Amino acid sequence: MTDFTPGSTYHGFILRRKEHVADINSEVYLFEHEVLGTPALAIKNADPNKTFCFTFQTVPEDSTGVAHILEHSVLMGSKKYPIHDVFGEINKGGLTTFLNAMTGSDTTWYPFASRNMMEYFNIMDVYCDVALNPLLPRSTFEQEGWHYHKESADAPLQLQGVVLNEMKGAFSDPIRSIFHHTFGGLMPGSTYAHESGGDPSAIPDLSYEQFVEFHQKHYHPPTGSCFLWRCGFGPGTCCGAG
Ligand SMILES: [Zn+2]
Repeated sequence: MTDFTPGSTYHGFILRRKEHVADINSEVYLFEHEVLGTPALAIKNADPNKTFCFTFQTVPEDSTGVAHILEHSVLMGSKKYPIHDVFGEINKGGLTTFLNAMTGSDTTWYPFASRNMMEYFNIMDVYCDVALNPLLPRSTFEQEGWHYHKESADAPLQLQGVVLNEMKGAFSDPIRSIFHHTFGGLMPGSTYAHESGGDPSAIPDLSYEQFVEFHQKHYHPPTGSCFLWRCGFGPGTCCGAG
């Protein structure tokens, strides 16, 4: 096993700090990419689930749900992996023990776990590529975000979209609505006053151009970070971009 030394560089990542954390019986290493400054946190322990999470700071400035729509949309394919359903393809024959993507109030996570080392590296490459090089065509924005819809020529005009419909469901829960308004009241003017998942009444205010701009601003290595949790790791296993 490599004896990692703080201050030394491994595969382009400088080890800033290492520590034994007794609560989780793990060795924890904090690396930083020497050029990009991207942090990479690695946790070494006996857990057979090799876990990886690619994370971005996605601080919303409104309640259009742009971070949430983007989370859905990057999983609709990249230049290297031009497939429409990344999760569906991985699930077809995968050995993953966890696979998901989450939008928090100021962060977006792309985690997965596998017990198979080859699959671990393969999915890591997929996650990194779709996050950093997504296709993001207008059709994906309209499908995942919002679009106008008419059942027939004389039917009423409707608004539809995957995230729009998901958040209509979420906001039909009074607890969710109360929490949204509570945070807005406690922290007015801050990012936490906004609904990162998207307020159904605000989602249609988002334009395609704003959506693409949000990706360019927030999905790049200096704002991203990696999280690795596996046994026998080497820091070079983290994708080079972050
Ligand atoms: Zn969603």
